[in-house]
Amino acid sequence: MRKIISVFLILVLASQMLWAKPKNPKKVVFLIGDGMGLTQITGAMAHYKGRNAFERFQVIGLSKTASSDNYVTDSGAGATVFSIGKKTYNGAIGVDSSKKESLGLFELLKERNWRTGVVATSSVTHATPAAFYAHVSSRRSEDEIAEFLKRRNCDLAIGGGMKFFLKRKDGRNLLTELNEMGFTVAADTNLVDIKAKKLIYLCADEGMKTMQEGRGDFLQKATKIAMNNLGSDKENYFLMVEGSQIDWGGHDNNFEYMKAELIDFNETINQVLDAAIKDGNTLVVVTADHETGGLSLLENKENKQTFISNYASKGHSGVMVPVFAYGPGAEAFAGIYENNQIFYKFKKLLRITK
Ligand code: MG
Ligand code: ZN
Repeated sequence: MRKIISVFLILVLASQMLWAKPKNPKKVVFLIGDGMGLTQITGAMAHYKGRNAFERFQVIGLSKTASSDNYVTDSGAGATVFSIGKKTYNGAIGVDSSKKESLGLFELLKERNWRTGVVATSSVTHATPAAFYAHVSSRRSEDEIAEFLKRRNCDLAIGGGMKFFLKRKDGRNLLTELNEMGFTVAADTNLVDIKAKKLIYLCADEGMKTMQEGRGDFLQKATKIAMNNLGSDKENYFLMVEGSQIDWGGHDNNFEYMKAELIDFNETINQVLDAAIKDGNTLVVVTADHETGGLSLLENKENKQTFISNYASKGHSGVMVPVFAYGPGAEAFAGIYENNQIFYKFKKLLRITK
């Protein structure tokens, strides 16, 4: 009998070892909804008929967003903190509070042969994507930011921003320069599927069209192209995908603009989650850099089944933002923490020892 029990125990242990989920992800898709606070999510998804991507996550946390010099962060400091792990001043791109260049996630991952990429509905040189591959003291230097792609720490960039490559103040054609370095480059408003190990694909002069202007499924297509290319050789990769214009709707205090952008982001998250579930080795983390507009949803006395969207500001606010995580290592993102901890959670999960 004792023998039977011990054989049984060995079988249980062996099956657990076989079936245990891998703890460390091989792929990471980090989705940032710029300006996406809880009220933006609640308001945009309130009467949405499709699948709510946010409700598919079991692990949820809250991130405190203050920057080093302002309780209310901007997107420069708000993305830099994810990339370098240090809170910095508003307007900073990949530099610390003393304006010193600090190693970012992409550089740390490159040392371990991971592939990296950014997808955005702004220009690829805008604050949020820029913070992952560039190091400049001001987010406004988009010409200079574009040049950092020559450092080869970012394998793929899809979004707007042709202007900063082709109509530069210094007259250089940066796309030609990148092409000579081995990047496949494209400047075309029409995004088509393309296979390339290193890819810069620019689809607008600056920011992409809004959803209301007919951007269509650009963000889903770009994300799919990015995931396919970065994961083409079963290599490890880290992809940042930004719903850039959720923030711009907030700055305009335009609820319908914000809502259309957030629903587009929701569909992108759904697509990434579907792929991650299939793959089993992909960690998906969704968060925001800050809330925009101080949006509240107030009682509508005329129609009590809905609400009145009310903005308190044309700028950002200092409220905590949600973090959603799925996949190997997701549990690490539960709880309440400062935004720089997101960097350290990635670092630990991705076994970056430096
Ligand atoms: Mg942004
Ligand atoms: Zn903003």
